[in-house]
Amino acid sequence: MTEPIEKWREDKAMDRFESKIIRITETGCWIWIGAISSNGYGSFQYMGKRMGAHVASFLIFNGEIPAGKEVCHTCDIRCCVNPYHLFSGTRSENMNDCVRKKRYTPSAAKLTQEMLEDILTSPLRNIDLCRKYGLSKNVVGRARQRLHYTKPLKGFDTEALTAAGIQYRIKGE
Ligand SMILES: [Zn+2]
Repeated sequence: MTEPIEKWREDKAMDRFESKIIRITETGCWIWIGAISSNGYGSFQYMGKRMGAHVASFLIFNGEIPAGKEVCHTCDIRCCVNPYHLFSGTRSENMNDCVRKKRYTPSAAKLTQEMLEDILTSPLRNIDLCRKYGLSKNVVGRARQRLHYTKPLKGFDTEALTAAGIQYRIKGE
C-alpha cells in the first residue's frame, strides 16, 4: 500500500502530526507520542479543533466520517493513528470491539507474554511502551529491569521468561 503522501505534504498541520508519531515496523502501528487523553487516545489540534489523534488521522487520510459513525481501530492500540488501522463504525461496533478485545477497562492493561517479549527487545522508551500497551510505568519499568514479579504470571511460558532473564515468584511460595 502506498501512503497518501501528497495529501500529507499539503497540510502544514501534518508536519506537526508526523513529529508526534513513531512507526512500529512489526505491527505497522503509528504510535502517538504527543498528548494522550485520560481515555488513552492521542489528542491533536486540527482544523481549529482539539480531537482524537486517530480521528484527525482518519479525516486526513480516509476522508469524512459518515454521520453517526465513529473512528474505530482494527488493531488493539488506542494511541495508534495509522489510517490503515482505522475504520468508521457505529458506537456499538466500537464498544463491542472494546469488549471483545477486553480493553474497555479504566485500569491499566495486564502484561502478556507477547508484550513482555516486545518490551525486552523494543527500542521504544518506557513511556511509549506504556502508551502502546496501556501498561503502567511500574510494570514496564520492572519488566525492563528484569525484576521478579510477586504475582503469578498466569498463562505465561515461565521457561521462556527464565530464559529471557525474568525472575518471578508465585505468591505464597
Ligand atoms: Zn495500529
